[in-house]
Amino acid sequence: AKAAGRNTYRFFDASMQADALERMRLLGKLHNAIERKELRLHYQPQLDLRSGAVIGAEALIRWQQPELGLVSPARFIPLAEDSGLIVPIGAWVLREACRQAAAWQEAGLPPIVVAVNLSVVQFRHGDLVRTVADALAESGLDPALLELELTESILIGDVDAVSQAVTRLKALGLRLSIDDFGTGYSNLAYLKRFAFDKLKIDQSFVRDMDSNADSCALVRAIVQMAHGLGLGTIAEGVERGELVEQLRRLNCDEAQGYHFGRPMPPEEFADYLARARSR
Ligand code: C2E
Ligand code: CA
Ligand code: CA
Ligand code: CA
Repeated sequence: AKAAGRNTYRFFDASMQADALERMRLLGKLHNAIERKELRLHYQPQLDLRSGAVIGAEALIRWQQPELGLVSPARFIPLAEDSGLIVPIGAWVLREACRQAAAWQEAGLPPIVVAVNLSVVQFRHGDLVRTVADALAESGLDPALLELELTESILIGDVDAVSQAVTRLKALGLRLSIDDFGTGYSNLAYLKRFAFDKLKIDQSFVRDMDSNADSCALVRAIVQMAHGLGLGTIAEGVERGELVEQLRRLNCDEAQGYHFGRPMPPEEFADYLARARSR
């Protein structure tokens, strides 16, 4: 048993080493990704459940690596966070999303809010408020058309510093939402203290709410609580039409998911938006 234990240990040790090596190689490539223009943003539509109108788009990063192909953000965002590279990458995302949203406006497309994901690391390092203000100024985008998606992980640690940053961000005139709501922090008192605008109900509750009574109860409770606090709600991961009716009945405000559209390149999204308007 002892020998087997040792073998098992060795096995994990070797695979962990291989994994660390792979991460280092990937990180080396990621270092040059911005200047080599390998990063792209795709946009996924967000719809108003009452009117059916497209009212927003979430910007989601893609890395087109010449040798590896398309690398998923689930793989490289954690690396970027651990290495601090997320600070310049996140700044690029903000600039690019604001530039794109302003360009769509210029082109006469219906006004939509562009939602940008922020990492907790961007809150702690670099001057985030300045970066956001610069992206807005540079693009000329109406701040009311920018939304920042934060996760509850920003609440771990120095809450006063975060509270200050949140207040300064809000003062720029943009909107703030809580991403993956219901999966993180459990002390809800923060919802009173911070000026958030919207809760994004996590996919894990939405996905099976038509077959799982507990998921349905959670979605209903989140919507009621949000509305009681004056916050809006958006359901993520809406893959099937059946869920849309149910979300409407529960009074959820907005929805996003494959049922309405996958994340798509900017040109395709502009077509989607133009078609949505003429429907
Ligand atoms: P997230 O912010 O929770 O984004 C939603 C993810 O769900 C996206 O995966 C999206 O493509 C996927 N999704 C959307 N609709 C559906 C659906 O109906 N069904 C299913 N199964 N999935 C759906 P993606 O694009 O692979 O991004 C993964 C995560 O990477 C994001 O999760 C976010 O945490 C992170 N990420 C993406 N772009 C950025 C970025 O620019 N900055 C930062 N810091 N993180 C980012
Ligand atoms: Ca998000
Ligand atoms: Ca999410
Ligand atoms: Ca997530």
